[in-house]
Amino acid sequence: MQSTMQDVPLLISQILDYGTSVHANAEVVTWTAQGPRRSSYAQVGRDCARLANALRSLGIDADQRVGTFMWNNEEHLELYLTVPSMGAVLHALNIRLFPEQLVYIARHAQDQVVVVDDSLAAVLARLLPQLPDVRHVVVNGPVPDDVRTALGASGAAVHDYRELLDAQSEQFDWPQLDERTAAAMCYTSGTTGNPKGVVYSHRSNVLHAMQLCLPNALGVAQGDRLLAVVPMFHANAWGLPYGALLAGASLVLPDRFLQAEPLATMIEVERCTAGAAVPTIWTDLLRHLDEHPQIDTSSLGRVIVGGSACPPALMRAFQERHQITVLHAWGMTEMSPLGTVAVPPSGVTGEEAWRYRETQGRLVPSVQARLVGPDGSAMPWDGESVGELQVKGPWITGSYYLDDDGSSFEDGWLRTGDVGTLTPGGYLRLTDRAKDVIKSGGEWISSVDLENILMGHPKVKEASVVGVPDERWGERPLATIVLLAGEELTVTELTEYLAERVAKWQVPERWAFIDEVPKTSVGKFDKKAIRASYANGLLDVRSA
Ligand code: AMP
Repeated sequence: MQSTMQDVPLLISQILDYGTSVHANAEVVTWTAQGPRRSSYAQVGRDCARLANALRSLGIDADQRVGTFMWNNEEHLELYLTVPSMGAVLHALNIRLFPEQLVYIARHAQDQVVVVDDSLAAVLARLLPQLPDVRHVVVNGPVPDDVRTALGASGAAVHDYRELLDAQSEQFDWPQLDERTAAAMCYTSGTTGNPKGVVYSHRSNVLHAMQLCLPNALGVAQGDRLLAVVPMFHANAWGLPYGALLAGASLVLPDRFLQAEPLATMIEVERCTAGAAVPTIWTDLLRHLDEHPQIDTSSLGRVIVGGSACPPALMRAFQERHQITVLHAWGMTEMSPLGTVAVPPSGVTGEEAWRYRETQGRLVPSVQARLVGPDGSAMPWDGESVGELQVKGPWITGSYYLDDDGSSFEDGWLRTGDVGTLTPGGYLRLTDRAKDVIKSGGEWISSVDLENILMGHPKVKEASVVGVPDERWGERPLATIVLLAGEELTVTELTEYLAERVAKWQVPERWAFIDEVPKTSVGKFDKKAIRASYANGLLDVRSA
């Protein structure tokens, strides 16, 4: 029997139309050196129509890729909404990658137009000679003549974003597309091999945005003023631009002002109610707020933390010292990215609630999961059996764009490369990335567990633990420690602290004090770089 329901495709243009009319008065605030620059969703809607006409005039009339090389700002939001809605494919380039990786990605995706922020134009100009597919560069903001000349030197036509839009009509008929066609693409930020492309569909992005807003997920709602720190080039911007438009939440976009001080000002001045970023951003903010108790953060109810494991000490410090709830979430570029959110079950309070909040979270609806043990067998969801997590769902990629050797997929499931446990209630606790697990004498040591405990020490700012070769045990943990400014600690003190909290055989013999843990392009601990420093004898390694 067929249903009687209308077969209406799920399209980004519906999010655009809905958000910019129903929530016309919601705000988009972009931070600048002079303070906030304001716009409304209604104004964004008019700009999107103009932008679509402008891109048509540049020859974007099918599924060509439109690249962005931008911070989080109003214009980037307009591109997020417009490019897919007109049937083209948005490709947000990760501005922090090395030039050779950027060239690889932009060529692989065959970007034809690149929209670039004025502050990043000089960087893009250096890449353009190697990007023959790029026919047009659109610059957002004023740039000096020499930068403009450099942008055009390889033959691309150079335009100004606002001038281009000003010349266009505010009317555009968004096409009726097949919901399964490509809307946007993102490349993984993995540290091994070439980045791999993931292509989101209209359907996957709309379903993801709807679920993102559920109260048991990120709970994005009207009245929220969401400080979206997570870069729009990281993992589909965590779905926040689409979720915000659907819910009618205002967006506060930090542009290039990502240090703790301006972020604290944004929270105070813009009365942000929620924020989203990787743990390192919140670690810096916490210190800043501790040092400046006069800053008013009373509007900020919750911050969403994902991208890497959130140290429990960070969550508790925000709650206890600033009454801000840290909501831990897990996901991947391949998953659009949302997989789990650590909202405790109803009725659970106190320390028991904390145990749930410190996990990666509960699977969100539509994300199916299984745990696969080392011998390939399914592991039980008992909160103890450890396995590799595999996932399936309507916003999870089934392959990589063009170059896919199939090794990341098994019977239609995505192998996440993450290792951990699941409880009967669907709460995920990650113990490691498969490649970061430390295999010591046949036993596994969780680098994440050791890091979380070390980062709970009141004098430790950051701690990263990696496995290094060891003649006797095969591998042993090496702990690299960043102390808080002005603090002192000895290896003996750290060893004793850890020995009180984990099994003795897990305590590292190798320690190094460093100024800063190296970070990847999206702000995660770069364990590959630490291993390389160790291998090259660049660390001052001590033992107790
Ligand atoms: P990316 O696609 O760059 O965001 O990387 C995805 C990977 O980041 C996941 O497979 C995890 O290894 C890691 N990750 C993301 N969120 C978390 C989290 N909450 N806790 C631990 N690891 C995380």
